[in-house]
Amino acid sequence: MSQLEPDIAKEIAWRIGNDARWTRWREQLEQTRYCHRPVRLRGATFDQDGVLTYSTAVEPGGVLLKACGNRREAICPPCSRTYKGDLWQLVIAGLIGGKGVPDAVAYHPMVFATFTAPSFGAVHGIHASGDRCRPRRGGDRCEHGIKLACWRSHNPDDAKCGEPICLDCFDYAGALIWNALAPELWRRTTIYIRRALAVELGLTAAALSRKARVSFLKVAEYQKRGLLHFHAIIRLDGAEGPINLPDGISTAKLENAIRRAAQGVSVPGPSGDFAEIRWGDELDISPLGGGGKSANRAAAYVAKYATKSTEAVGGLTRSVGAAQASKLPVSDHVRRFIATAHELASRNELADLRLPKVAHQLGFRGHWTTKSRRYSTTMGALREARKLFAQEQDANRQSAGEHRSMWEFAGSGHASRADLALVARLATEQERIRRIAVVERRTDDPRSR
Ligand SMILES: [Zn+2]
Ligand SMILES: [Zn+2]
Ligand SMILES: [Zn+2]
Repeated sequence: MSQLEPDIAKEIAWRIGNDARWTRWREQLEQTRYCHRPVRLRGATFDQDGVLTYSTAVEPGGVLLKACGNRREAICPPCSRTYKGDLWQLVIAGLIGGKGVPDAVAYHPMVFATFTAPSFGAVHGIHASGDRCRPRRGGDRCEHGIKLACWRSHNPDDAKCGEPICLDCFDYAGALIWNALAPELWRRTTIYIRRALAVELGLTAAALSRKARVSFLKVAEYQKRGLLHFHAIIRLDGAEGPINLPDGISTAKLENAIRRAAQGVSVPGPSGDFAEIRWGDELDISPLGGGGKSANRAAAYVAKYATKSTEAVGGLTRSVGAAQASKLPVSDHVRRFIATAHELASRNELADLRLPKVAHQLGFRGHWTTKSRRYSTTMGALREARKLFAQEQDANRQSAGEHRSMWEFAGSGHASRADLALVARLATEQERIRRIAVVERRTDDPRSR
């Protein structure tokens, strides 16, 4: 906000012009952790005799702000940061213990696995050590007259990355349906892993369940080509869950079981002309465990991707019609996905996939993060703990005699563009202070000297 429009500057002058109003507004912002899109509430509380104990009439602008709690960075950076922090705690507890999970989980067989979609057509890609994208001699062209070779070596920021070599050759219908059914493919995969592990160990399913349990946490992410891939932490526990070690089962056995499951699992296509849904050949598995750096890296990675959704493929935040899509600042590739989702809507056998509704998510309508019950704590538990802490802090300010309250929705988002500009600036400043405090705490720690 180096250059402000004059009306915004005027509104900012009003906001900061009165000390009491400014101080109270800052307090409210602090309570919402500088949320960019707070819910504005109007209301009052009364004691048992019906006497007014509090009214938002005394608040700046006559409203009380409540944080939006949105997970997505593109929608609300501060709330997304809170979400990311919670998720990081949840992930790390499953990796090295904490939040009621014993530290010994760090020594359970455990891997970080990435499951990828198959190919739906050649795309421009990034290759190791600056290799060429698609080197081939002979000047071959597809049936649409597009050259099949690409002699460039793309860097990761290149807009071409993930774009099909030929938009007409790319199988958008297949890709959309794959994204739509990927959550079901994942659900089946978790079942197959248990079965494959039993086979791997020469046990029946029942005998395996008396010996070990599979816990997991997965997060969905888009690749640049618009297909989802899933990152998962997969951990083996004893029969009782994270409190005991599964006897005599190695990480290698777990890895074999995952590979076997990924190869064998499928979901039937939604109609005859769509092939069954399977994983692609690329399956990356690396061992975790023992705590330390790999655990931190995995946790940070998962938390980072859980706050993005379609950002990697154009960042649409709500459903869009095909006509609307033609005017949006998204790539031709994303526009084709959206157009195809609407075209497929007329087919009855695909109605369950609700493709037009999730066109902006390129067909995906699952949960970005899922976990098995015993992986670690829950987001709900972490939120509850934070709420209790805030309530304790609030307790002395609150009127003890509160009996009845009345609230109404006064709007969402900040009241003016000036307020949003101020909040964004304050949020950045707050984040900077928080980071400095973290560094100072670290340098104060005698162990780090
Ligand atoms: Zn928010
Ligand atoms: Zn290329
Ligand atoms: Zn073509």
